[in-house]
Amino acid sequence: MGGDVGPAGGRPSPDAPSARPAASALGARPTVGLDIGGTKTLAALLAPDGAVLAQTRISTERGPDAVVDGAVRAVRGVVRQAGVDVADLDAVGVGVPGLVDHETGTVRHAVNLGLEAATLPLAFRLAAELGVGVVVDNDLNVAALGAAHLAPGAGRRPVDLAFLALGTGLAAGLVLDGVIRRGSGAAGEIGHVPVDPAGPVCACGQRGCLELYASGTAVERLWPARTGRPAPVELFEAAAAGDPAAIAAQESYADAVAAAVRMLVLSVDVRGVVLGGGVAQLGEPLLAAVRDALIRQAKASPFLASLALPERVLLAPGHVPVAAVGAAVLARTTPPPAPAAPTP
Ligand SMILES: [Zn+2]
Repeated sequence: MGGDVGPAGGRPSPDAPSARPAASALGARPTVGLDIGGTKTLAALLAPDGAVLAQTRISTERGPDAVVDGAVRAVRGVVRQAGVDVADLDAVGVGVPGLVDHETGTVRHAVNLGLEAATLPLAFRLAAELGVGVVVDNDLNVAALGAAHLAPGAGRRPVDLAFLALGTGLAAGLVLDGVIRRGSGAAGEIGHVPVDPAGPVCACGQRGCLELYASGTAVERLWPARTGRPAPVELFEAAAAGDPAAIAAQESYADAVAAAVRMLVLSVDVRGVVLGGGVAQLGEPLLAAVRDALIRQAKASPFLASLALPERVLLAPGHVPVAAVGAAVLARTTPPPAPAAPTP
């Protein structure tokens, strides 16, 4: 996957190493960020200057105790790699799916993690185990923060981008003028904007939601995998080989992702839309297909053409765990919740 990411384009000049978005808020000690997903937990150790010092991944086990134990192991593992002690950390940040109250550090309805039944006071439990402050946020919010942190030229002005996750579902994390847009929890849920009143019924109860056309699951419906490899890989390979049905399916999928990009820019005018999630592992071929779709769609509209949408679409960097890095950035810029056990 390409490492080009950044709303403004261009790379930071080598004589401006401290020009990182969160630099002004950095503490003097490193932080660790975790991205706890349904199958794996990614960890990143961030230096005070914002550089990624170490990264690791472990499998995620389901259930409250297993999630906490796994998070503790991931933190200890990543600091050990760099010869640092947990006690040397400024704080730990965690990104998780589900409904997160970032002020109390609690998680609900994280079905992928086996946390559907009760509220998990994740920040409190982790802080008690590790002896450092812990902040918790939604995984897409920290992914957007990570993409903002890693964006070239990010220090020159407040970063303004959406992290569009093309995974099981479809949703975006938003960093607007350098700040995470949380709203009441629904910010960036563009997957459930209906785009076809005659379309199939979505799991949310509406009809023809964008998620049914632009998510990773949508690719599987368009082009079911035949060899056991990921459906997006098989689709894009067949299209590249000239299969007319695959070319049509690929264009239809790219059109839907382009619609998501258009929706994000037209609603909040982000300077960049970073493609992430499982489908984005396709890398450059996905980026090219989506840019082509945006060019096609703007042909009849001088208005759309004036927005330069193809130039705003970027790929999440493939060499670092973006959401884990974002969680580490969050840890250094957000005070942890008060160290009292929340009522479950
Ligand atoms: Zn829906």
